[in-house]
Amino acid sequence: MTTEPNLVPPRLRNDCFAMPQGVAWVPVEEALARLRAVLYPITATETIALHQGLGRVLADDMQATRANPPQANSAVDGYGFVHAATGTGVCQLPLVSGRAAAGQPFTGAVPAGHAVRILTGAILPEGVDTVVLEEDCAISATAIAFDGPIKPRANTRRAGEDIAQGATALPKGHKLRAPDLALLAATGIAMLPVYRRLRVGILSTGDEIVTQNAAPHQIYDANRPMLLALAQSWGMEPVDLGHSPDDTDLIRSKLTEATTRADVILTSGGASAGDEDHVSRLLASEGQLSSWRIAMKPGRPLALAMWQGIPVFGLPGNPVAALICALIFARPALSALSGAGWTSPQKFTLPASFSKTKKAGRREYLRARITADGQAEVFASEGSGRISGLAWATGLVELPDEALQVNPGDPVTFLPFGDFFA
Ligand code: AMP
Ligand code: MG
Repeated sequence: MTTEPNLVPPRLRNDCFAMPQGVAWVPVEEALARLRAVLYPITATETIALHQGLGRVLADDMQATRANPPQANSAVDGYGFVHAATGTGVCQLPLVSGRAAAGQPFTGAVPAGHAVRILTGAILPEGVDTVVLEEDCAISATAIAFDGPIKPRANTRRAGEDIAQGATALPKGHKLRAPDLALLAATGIAMLPVYRRLRVGILSTGDEIVTQNAAPHQIYDANRPMLLALAQSWGMEPVDLGHSPDDTDLIRSKLTEATTRADVILTSGGASAGDEDHVSRLLASEGQLSSWRIAMKPGRPLALAMWQGIPVFGLPGNPVAALICALIFARPALSALSGAGWTSPQKFTLPASFSKTKKAGRREYLRARITADGQAEVFASEGSGRISGLAWATGLVELPDEALQVNPGDPVTFLPFGDFFA
C-alpha cells in the first residue's frame, strides 16, 4: 500500500450529533447506537515498520506473503522415514548418513525402508512423511527400531497448516497486540499500513482547578492526567491542552488552538447547563452543541459538539463521572474515529456480594472488584467525588435501566477495567 501524506480524511458533518426534537432522557443503549451510526475513521494513513506496530490500527487487510510454516517440517526430535514402508509390530530401519536440522536441510532423498536423523523444525527431506520420537526408539550407530504401527504423518507439520500464503492474516481495523506482530512477522510482512494515531486533546476547565500550590479554595486537576493516560493506553496520541478557568474567551482560544493539534477534544467540567458551565454555553453559541441527557448514573448531560470541524466530547467535571462517561461513551467513539471500529465492553456475570435497591429509569455503574472467591463487590460509597473508589476498583458493575433489587448471590454484570484500558 502506498501512502499519500496529503490525503485529507473525511470530516464529520457539523450536525452529526443532533438529537431529534423533544427527546428527553436517552437510554444508554440508544445513545451508543446513535454515536455508532455517525462516527467513522477520520485519520489519514501511513506506513510503518512492523516492530513499531504495537497498539497501531491496520488500515488494510494483511495478506500472508508466505505460508506458515513455509515447508512441511518435523514437530519433534526423532527419525524420519516414509510411512508406506512401515507396518505393525517392531519396525527396524537402517539409518542413512547425515541429518536434517532446522536451518540445515538434508540434501538428497531418503530411500523407502530407511530412516534419517531429524530435529525439530527441520524441513522433511524427500522420502520422509512421518517422524518417530527419539524417546520411542532403540538406537544404534546404524539403525533404529520402534513399535509399529505409527500414524501416517505423525509428528510432522504440514506446509501452510497455520496460515496459507495469500490468506488474510489480520483484517483492516485490527488494533495490533504483541501476538499479532508475531503472526505478521511469521508470514513475511515487514511494513504495515496503519491509521495515523488519533490525536486526542484533553482540556480541563474550572476556576477552582490548579496543577500546583493549591490554595484552600482550589483543587488539583485530577481529570487531565487520567484522561491523558486513558488516551495513551488506547494507543492514541494524548495532546495536553492544559487547563482553562471558567472564562468563555479563554476556553474559546484553547479550543481553537486545539484544532491544529488534535483530531478530537475531550473536555471535563462546565458541561452542564449551570451559570458556570462555560463549555456548554460556548459550544451552544458558537459550535454545534447537542446536549445528550443520558439516562445513566453517574453522569449528567454528555455535551457533544463540533468545534470548527473537530468533534468535542464534553465530559462531566466530577472525576468518577468523567471516567465512567469516558469508558462507556468516549472509548467506543474514539475507537471508531481512530479506524479500529466500534468497541463494546467485555461483560461477564458474577454473583453479587452486596445488596442494593435500584429505582427504574437510569442505568447505573458502580465501582467494583472481584473478591477472592469470585463475587462482585462494590465500593462502600457511591459518592461521585470519591476518586479513591476508582483506584480501588478493578471494574464496574452495570445495573440495568429497570428497577432492581440485588441480593447477595444474585447474578450481576461485571465490566473489567482490563478490557477498558486497552
Ligand atoms: P463541573 O462539571 O464543572 O460542575 O464540576 C463538577 C465537580 O467536579 C466539581 O466539584 C469540580 O470541582 C470537580 N472537577 C471539575 N474538574 C475537575 C478536575 N479536572 N479534577 C478534579 N475535579 C474536578
Ligand atoms: Mg466547573
